[in-house]
Amino acid sequence: MNIVNLKLGLLRTNCFIVYNESSTCWIIDPGDEFSKIETELNKFELTPTKILLTHGHFDHIEAINDIKNKYPTVKVFIHKNDIPFLTNNETWEMYLGRPLKSTAYDELLLDNQLLEGDNLQTKVIHTPGHSPGSVCFLFDNTILFSGDTVFACGSIGRTDLWKSSFADMRSSLKRIFSFVDNLIIYPGHGANTTLNDEREYRL
Ligand SMILES: [Zn+2]
Ligand SMILES: [Zn+2]
Repeated sequence: MNIVNLKLGLLRTNCFIVYNESSTCWIIDPGDEFSKIETELNKFELTPTKILLTHGHFDHIEAINDIKNKYPTVKVFIHKNDIPFLTNNETWEMYLGRPLKSTAYDELLLDNQLLEGDNLQTKVIHTPGHSPGSVCFLFDNTILFSGDTVFACGSIGRTDLWKSSFADMRSSLKRIFSFVDNLIIYPGHGANTTLNDEREYRL
């Protein structure tokens, strides 16, 4: 599987374009700056079919409307518990000092659901805590896109935000840390890491 990593927007949110011997691809967390995403899609001659959201916070979703304008058949996937973030933008607007557009979604993600197509397959792991609809995407049992749940160097996502829950975060982390040792983790912000390295921070 090929992974293209872009750091987009105000919070340098990680966006990932994934593809595997195909001219079609999936985009995880297109946070902002559509032009940068478009440049990569053109460079590798890729057409996106799915947009997978680890959660609905503004810094992970702001390029969706532009992607849908250019590629109208692309489908946006989100967990139902994070739908409120796609339209209820008041909190973020106060924080950013600018208006945010609402974003539409197409399909809902379910815990343990398998998504297939375009020579790709992923399993959805519902990991509430940072937000109630946070999910991780597990590819080939070796690569985990962890959104804002787990970061490198022992860090985890904030649980002091609207609809966050520290108790849920604890259970979600317990679940992730039960996965295989050699798992490579690509977080929503910062560098990638491995589950093994992250375990050491928690000894
Ligand atoms: Zn977030
Ligand atoms: Zn984020």
